[in-house]
Amino acid sequence: MRVVITGGAGFLGSHLCDTLLSRGDSVVCVDDLSTGRLENLEDARNSPAFRFIEADVTLGLDVPGPVDAVAHLASPASPPDYLRRPLQTLAAGSRGTEHALALARRHHARFLLASTSEVYGSPQVHPQTEEYWGHVNPVGPRSVYDESKRFAEALTTAHRGALGVDTGIVRIFNTYGPRMRADDGRVVSNFIWQALSGNPITVYGDGEQTRSFCYVDDLVHGLVAMLDSDHAGPVNLGNPAEFTVGQLAVMIREMTAISTPVHYRELPQDDPPRRRPAIERAARTLGWRPVVDLAEGLGHTIDWFRSRSGAPREAGVTVAG
Ligand code: NAD
Ligand code: UDP
Repeated sequence: MRVVITGGAGFLGSHLCDTLLSRGDSVVCVDDLSTGRLENLEDARNSPAFRFIEADVTLGLDVPGPVDAVAHLASPASPPDYLRRPLQTLAAGSRGTEHALALARRHHARFLLASTSEVYGSPQVHPQTEEYWGHVNPVGPRSVYDESKRFAEALTTAHRGALGVDTGIVRIFNTYGPRMRADDGRVVSNFIWQALSGNPITVYGDGEQTRSFCYVDDLVHGLVAMLDSDHAGPVNLGNPAEFTVGQLAVMIREMTAISTPVHYRELPQDDPPRRRPAIERAARTLGWRPVVDLAEGLGHTIDWFRSRSGAPREAGVTVAG
């Protein structure tokens, strides 16, 4: 297959590039490098089957040559990133999705939308099944992301129904792993980087809110399974093991063996109190389920962050024990 990946220089997109290249596909990565990085593509760029196009998908999307599939991942994704870029986030979900769908339509290609658990908002149904319509504040700060993804799902569904495009929607739950930016602001990268650099771990609120964390390799296997299928979705992709943010802080302090203090900060507005995917649909339709548990995945992620910088141990950090 020749696959176009929008947002392919980002955290998830770059792993998807690598996985598809390693099984023999050709990959065209289209990215404006707003939150992604070329260094994520170091391996991919060594492959003759890889091409990088620096472009903003909200302005249009044209890729020369054949296209068998389009995976649309371009969008700011971490809360600090999308709160800093409210209009770009709405544009990525709306105009960006429209351009990516048009490219798939022109080529009779499979289209994959990277949607999010955020479409469930602050969920009143737990765990979240795909049938649940969600509970989103349309004028709250997070709405720029949540509503843009909900619109993207509607646009994708309409292209399938009205225009016959072969579309699939996945709703991705909190995913972590190597290549997250240290300053990306999401909880796993924040806690690991704070611990390794000897800064206080910042728990927002009382730390009793929950998330269910999926390791990136598992997630990417789910994306590939959905690309290869003709299923419309939506399909939840996530790891159903649920942890409080406080539990995550304890695990990361123990695993890094660095005794940095925990500081409590104000809970951001509309921060969902709990989140956990029901993944029976993914198991049934894609034969997919995650296999990496949180301790193992955090171990890989901590090792990766350590390998990126000699700074933490040189920064006068207290090492426990
Ligand atoms: P990321 O910020 O690392 O990657 C997003 C990529 O999109 C970046 O490389 C960025 O430069 C690019 N991009 C943004 N706007 C663009 C534009 N207008 N034109 C071209 N490129 C653009 O984030 P990520 O975690 O890899 O997320 C990838 C996708 O998966 C996003 O659509 C996100 O909403 C979705 N998702 C991720 C998670 C997660 O836990 N990582 C959860 C739910 C959904
Ligand atoms: N969080 C936290 N400290 C941080 C960053 C995040 O306590 O330094 C909390 C945040 O308030 C939320 C959870 O961790 O309850 C997950 O946040 P993240 O930004 O990773 O993802 P999302 O809120 O989109 O699920």
